[in-house]
Amino acid sequence: MTGRTDISPFGGGKELNHALGDGAEMKQSSNAASLSPKRVMVVGLGASGRAVLSRLLSEHREVVVIDDSLQSSIVEAMPSKGVEVYVHPTPEELSTALEGVSEIVVSPGVPPRHPLFDLLNKVDSQPEVISELEFAYRRSNVPILAVTGSNGKTTVTTLIDEMLRASGIASLAAGNIGYPATSAVAESSTFDWLVCEVSSFQLYFTRSFRPAIAVWLNVTADHLDWHTDMDEYVAAKARVWANQGTSDVAVANTDDPVVMAHLPRGKGRCVTFGLTEGDYHVDEGFLVGPGRGRIVAIEDLKRGFPHDLSNALAATAAAVEAGASLSAAREVLIHFEGLPHRLQLVGVVDGVEYLDDSKATTPSAVLAALQGLDSVVLIAGGRNKGLDMGVLAEGASKLRAVVAIGEAAPEVCQALSTIQCIGHAQNMKEAVELAKHFARPGDKVLLSPGCASYDWYSSYAERGDDFARCVRSHMTTNKGGVRGRS
Ligand code: ADP
Repeated sequence: MTGRTDISPFGGGKELNHALGDGAEMKQSSNAASLSPKRVMVVGLGASGRAVLSRLLSEHREVVVIDDSLQSSIVEAMPSKGVEVYVHPTPEELSTALEGVSEIVVSPGVPPRHPLFDLLNKVDSQPEVISELEFAYRRSNVPILAVTGSNGKTTVTTLIDEMLRASGIASLAAGNIGYPATSAVAESSTFDWLVCEVSSFQLYFTRSFRPAIAVWLNVTADHLDWHTDMDEYVAAKARVWANQGTSDVAVANTDDPVVMAHLPRGKGRCVTFGLTEGDYHVDEGFLVGPGRGRIVAIEDLKRGFPHDLSNALAATAAAVEAGASLSAAREVLIHFEGLPHRLQLVGVVDGVEYLDDSKATTPSAVLAALQGLDSVVLIAGGRNKGLDMGVLAEGASKLRAVVAIGEAAPEVCQALSTIQCIGHAQNMKEAVELAKHFARPGDKVLLSPGCASYDWYSSYAERGDDFARCVRSHMTTNKGGVRGRS
């Protein structure tokens, strides 16, 4: 479905559906450049694109929206103002849409290989291309604490936000975590800090983005279906520190050589964390800060996987730099149960614990989970994001069996071909049944797919929920063997 339409000021909904459904009647292209020098293009109308759109309209800017798969429900929810919308535009329509555009705001998920960027190379006018994060940053009046990395961003963003609040500091968590930075910025005047989870997609299209504190947790292969290669992915991540000045703080992981290799390039003051060394590290069963000051005993944490400790150290380092107290950080850490779908215990059946790690969408996240476990029946597979599943072999010694699921099942089987028990399931119900068959009392059944969920589900959360439902169906038929929690 392609076509352009205008959101009419007079009750757009029905007209729009008609227009979108029937291949909208094309308007004559206008000389938009002469109409308004402030014409902005919004690419992608997901949550962050919609936040940008509404901000632009409040600034009385002329807006053109393009989206490759706009749902009519979203269109109906659009404000009834004169917004040009192109759904899955043809190259000709894209050219028309671009006329007079001085700024393009790209939503996360729109890859740099989108036809729009080819076209931009051919047009004389060179609009500035920025991400929604950059757009939000330019409008922000509060300091931003940014968190990036391949794994652990949401967890660490949550911890920092909680530590700041527990210290009486007004903090708002935003970005990838689920609340667009642009929306957060609009209400940020009442906040002291914006704690922003930032992805490589968002960082790729930044220019002046300069967080006052920036944490780079780690880097392993991810999103290679979006980025051209690993170098491009790492370069995008490195932008989190690129514009920092001497008054800013760069928080870095001493356990990650790639992260550390980029540290000297930023000008920010460095604060480090790591399992064995760094300003914040592990010492004789405690997480400690500068001067070996004790933060918390590991045995007081609800979970102590190596990556949990790393995340706790990173969050404490960043939060303390933003003004949090060590006692507040400690309180948050000892009460933190972990986020849903990240190694979450969903139940116990016949002495076997079932763990939902559906958010593990890279093989490196699977390996992080396996590091803290023994004797595991792994359920893995899904839609591969262009990553090498072969690295799963590094976790083979922890596995009793593997159940391969989804599109990447053959790659999972190949990576783990040394495992004696390999099953292949057509759906989650079958996967849980096979895993149950392989598992022995004391084992863990771990859904840690190492892949995106989009082959079978609309999100990792839906995948995890389906897993939990299947596990619980066994719990109800196994009275006596159950001590699960949700
Ligand atoms: P992100 O927001 O970067 O995807 P999450 O906090 O949502 O990170 O966790 C995603 C997955 O990565 C989960 O499976 C989690 O167990 C795992 N994980 C969390 N922190 C780390 C870390 N520091 N290193 C490796 N894996 C991690």
